[in-house]
Amino acid sequence: MSESKQTILDVNNLHVSFQTRNGEVQAVRGVNFSLKEGETLAIVGESGCGKSVTAQSIMRLIPTPPGVIKEGSIKLKGKDLTKYTEKQMREIRGTDIGMIFQDPMTSLNPVLTIGDQISEGLFKNSKVSKADAKKRTIELLSLVGIANPEERLRQYPHQFSGGMRQRIMIAMALVSEPGVLIADEPTTALDVTIQAQIIDLFKDIQKRIGIAIILITHDLGLVAQIADRINVMYAGKIIESGTVREIFYEPQHPYTKGLLKSVPRLDGDRNEPLIPIDGTPPDLFAPPKGCGFARRCDYAMDVCLQYDPEPTSVSEHHSVRCWLQDERANKAVKAIDNRSPKINFQSK
Ligand code: SF4
Repeated sequence: MSESKQTILDVNNLHVSFQTRNGEVQAVRGVNFSLKEGETLAIVGESGCGKSVTAQSIMRLIPTPPGVIKEGSIKLKGKDLTKYTEKQMREIRGTDIGMIFQDPMTSLNPVLTIGDQISEGLFKNSKVSKADAKKRTIELLSLVGIANPEERLRQYPHQFSGGMRQRIMIAMALVSEPGVLIADEPTTALDVTIQAQIIDLFKDIQKRIGIAIILITHDLGLVAQIADRINVMYAGKIIESGTVREIFYEPQHPYTKGLLKSVPRLDGDRNEPLIPIDGTPPDLFAPPKGCGFARRCDYAMDVCLQYDPEPTSVSEHHSVRCWLQDERANKAVKAIDNRSPKINFQSK
């Protein structure tokens, strides 16, 4: 990724909560990241870690109430989207930021032809003639690899396979040539062969139109193939961030290491056993005082239960939230039973 590329999106200290009958769920707890033009950033983690809520918050699509952005900023080309009205956001969605979801069938209108649905986006965002809209629709369908686009734009969603419907969703998200595309689990509902085709499609589109992509997924295989950088989320926070190479080959956080051991590696030994991470993420109704991973971590120390670690830089693009990165940590003795540690962390 070239350093001369401009930052297009900057998320700073984002806190998002949901008010429920049982109390406040702190789904996103101080997330920071930026995205450069033409870059692919993956946000990975187990379900419930806050990755989809982060994506929906950028689009301001979290249902309000019960959801609320409590703190922080989301700057798109320097403009803070958290200050935008719903009317302003409607102009941004689809124009400056496109989004595609896991299940294209729920996002496509079953009673409108594909051509009508794509050109609807064109009419919404610019004054185009019917003939130009049709021409552009055909171009978009070709861009996403749909054969015979002139014929197919007259067809309805049910006449397409799952993979083809996902391609149509991608075409719709690209109607206004947005600078950012958010893809939330875009291949989860597809079979492996179609997944590979969609991955190739993302790569091709990025090469051709230079769009920046935020990929939300739990699928590390997908990430390895298309991302430039990875944010690993856990319990509403980014606990490790780095380039694909750094996260896959030099992971530092015990959770990231666990995540990598729990999924099959494309480059790994097929006979190597997969080791699931024991335990469950903390309850975000009442997030723990210290490190959110402490109850599941083999390396937990007393300090981990008392204080949440701040991000520590490992290299220029690689940072980790873990007390093991703190130089004082070698003075601490590993707690044998991390549920009731008996040994105190000793500061210098
Ligand atoms: Fe484990 Fe402590 Fe690091 Fe958290 S801060 S991941 S509990 S060692």
